Amino acid sequence: MEMEMRAREDIKAGQDLTPPLPPLTFALHHQSPTSSDIRAALRLLPSLPSTSTSPPPRLFGLLTNRDRLMSSPDPDVLSMIREGAREMSTHGRPNLYNDDVALEEALLCLVMTNAVEVQDNNGRMLGIAVYDHNFSWINHSCSPNASYRFFFSHSNTPSFSNHSNMLIVPAFFNDVQTQGKSDVCSTSQLKQGCERYGPSIIVRSIKRINKGEAVTVPYTDLLQPKAMRQAELWSKYQFVCCCKRCTASPPTYVDRTLEEISAYSLELNSRFDHHFNRDEANQKLTDYMDEVVTEYLSVGDPESCCKKMEHLLNQGLLCELSETGEGKVVLNLRLHPLHHLALNAYTTLASAYKIRSNDLLALNSDNDAHNLEAFNMSRTSAGYSLLLAGATDYLFQSESSLIASAANFWVSAGESLLTLARSSGWNLFVKPGKPVSNSSLKTHKCSKCSLMDRLEVNGPAENADFGNISCKFLDCISNMTRKVWNSITYSCAHLQTYKDPINFSRLSKSSNLWDLQAHCGSIDEGSHFGSEGSISRIKAQVYTEEVKVSIFQLGVHCLAYGGYLANICYGKNSHLT
Ligand SMILES: [Zn+2]
Ligand SMILES: [Zn+2]
Repeated sequence: MEMEMRAREDIKAGQDLTPPLPPLTFALHHQSPTSSDIRAALRLLPSLPSTSTSPPPRLFGLLTNRDRLMSSPDPDVLSMIREGAREMSTHGRPNLYNDDVALEEALLCLVMTNAVEVQDNNGRMLGIAVYDHNFSWINHSCSPNASYRFFFSHSNTPSFSNHSNMLIVPAFFNDVQTQGKSDVCSTSQLKQGCERYGPSIIVRSIKRINKGEAVTVPYTDLLQPKAMRQAELWSKYQFVCCCKRCTASPPTYVDRTLEEISAYSLELNSRFDHHFNRDEANQKLTDYMDEVVTEYLSVGDPESCCKKMEHLLNQGLLCELSETGEGKVVLNLRLHPLHHLALNAYTTLASAYKIRSNDLLALNSDNDAHNLEAFNMSRTSAGYSLLLAGATDYLFQSESSLIASAANFWVSAGESLLTLARSSGWNLFVKPGKPVSNSSLKTHKCSKCSLMDRLEVNGPAENADFGNISCKFLDCISNMTRKVWNSITYSCAHLQTYKDPINFSRLSKSSNLWDLQAHCGSIDEGSHFGSEGSISRIKAQVYTEEVKVSIFQLGVHCLAYGGYLANICYGKNSHLT
């Protein structure tokens, strides 16, 4: 018997479905020999009444998933549970089930199955928490209709017994009612007076949900291709996702694009259209990226990381692959600009260039050459941020559950562009004009998309209204990007290959365009630095007061659009709005 949560009534996008729900247990991530999972499980131990039978499949109403996890083919999972349970049993509690640690195993499995990562307002992972059935019975979908956020205030958390604003109700899934509902049990298992402290969770709709429809949230990163999502869900929860996105045939546009690669044969000097092992090719590309990121994290050299990632994006990866039935073939593999590895690369590049820029400024603030280079890197960082936001937004247009990613990336792009617009680097080229400040952000109005009116839209979103608003925002953002893209990408040969970072529709119309353009137009790293005369001519166009103001306006638009989307998926007072 499985459980799910369904909508109690018709629900619009952008409505809270639950009051803040306090956790059953919570553990912070910190340096400790005992893992967060074990510490969270230990906190549940005293709440269970004494019993001498083996633990039921559900505790506190939540599936422990013990049988499945303990029969996992992955030996690491099994040993983690066994050793964790033994460690729990040494923490001073006499064992309830003779010598075995069945209850400890069950609690640990319950935590592994039901815990969610708690993030603070800056997206930092704080710890894990387990919530009662009102949250934990919400099933997963790779195209979910709800999201959740955490609520940290202790003072005015509405009382848990307040179910007046609970818009979801439990239901039996598959409707096999052979077992009584009492078996499913609930938080009544918790001893009276048991304190439930820690961050609360609030569930919110991100799409329109009809009365009686199952409410779903993501258990995994939705910007991963299907195979990766399925592998993660299997290793963590031992289930095969059969959501509509996973079972779509042919696969959805987003899932195809997230792993779209092209192959080019140097020998034939043309695109390689024969069959080759795409999984193997994707694996090699993933390995390359993992290696670059691991090296970056351990050695901490952002310059080498940028070089290697841009090389992959620009030149592709040369590798030997097995060709169906015909042995080996050497191919140059290239990522689609919306491939999930490309998206990861944009994220890393935006952050690495920002670090390089800050490092240079910290080094010597009086040196003009340093300041110029720092300014260039700050522009490149903003460029990658904007590219990431545009790319994710494009995917979001076909898969509306990507709204949270789109919101996050638009806000980051906005912040990055505002930092750039306020950079002292402009003083190297233009006489300091009117400083752009926070106050101009508040008074900024745009007659085309009536920006400030949009910011005041706080209620649940109507679908028609939403499409209209997001269209107008994107229109403005596209127009402004066209004005400043040359300036932003001036010192980054790779970014210059993207003609329009907001509009990727050209790519989907002709799937050959992106790789043809990339293969034919080989990039000459030094080409844009022509003679001295042309440098100053280009600089005269690139670093003007007008460009600076346009970048500022673009930043305000990105922030406002990100805030508008965040308002739908996180609510009015979220960190992003
Ligand atoms: Zn799925
Ligand atoms: Zn506008």
